[in-house]
Amino acid sequence: MPDFPHNIWAPWRMEYIHALAGESGGCFLCDYAAHPAKDATNLVLWRTRDVMVLLNRFPYTNGHLLVAPTAHKGDLADFPAKALGELMRQTARAKRLLAAALGAHGFNIGINFGRCAGAGLPDHLHVHVVPRWNGDTNFMAVLGNVRVIPDGLEQCRARLLAALKASRGRKGKRTRDRSGGAAGPRRKK
Ligand SMILES: [Zn+2]
Repeated sequence: MPDFPHNIWAPWRMEYIHALAGESGGCFLCDYAAHPAKDATNLVLWRTRDVMVLLNRFPYTNGHLLVAPTAHKGDLADFPAKALGELMRQTARAKRLLAAALGAHGFNIGINFGRCAGAGLPDHLHVHVVPRWNGDTNFMAVLGNVRVIPDGLEQCRARLLAALKASRGRKGKRTRDRSGGAAGPRRKK
């Protein structure tokens, strides 16, 4: 069966509780949203104006991402359609990145509402993007609170950022190339 080691996920662990509460004792997603300078430490991959994408510090699998609005609101009904559209666009982008960078074969993507449904932070909406591979733990194992031991969060972030940069490069959105000079707007003198 699975090639991955397992352990029992214990969301009541103190480390987990403290992390969810954030440094200020409030909400860790709000902490992260307010401190872009700490994105590397906080495992944030990228931000748009209203959404951020980050690695889950307590992942089910390697590459488990969270896509969260920066606004502290807990329900889908709290957001206007435009904000939900942006949330979904960034979720699609996260999924694409995981497929490209980690070769994920499938995904579990979802939102937990309420503590009884597994939400550790019910007041700040976030979408879980969990990459899956053929032969890894089955879906019931995920629902049954068994998780794969994370394999180097920092390394995973670096790998995803490199893939993100490469995909941007392919789209020609980034200016580079000192010698060619073809890319990027020219400055007028
Ligand atoms: Zn929050």
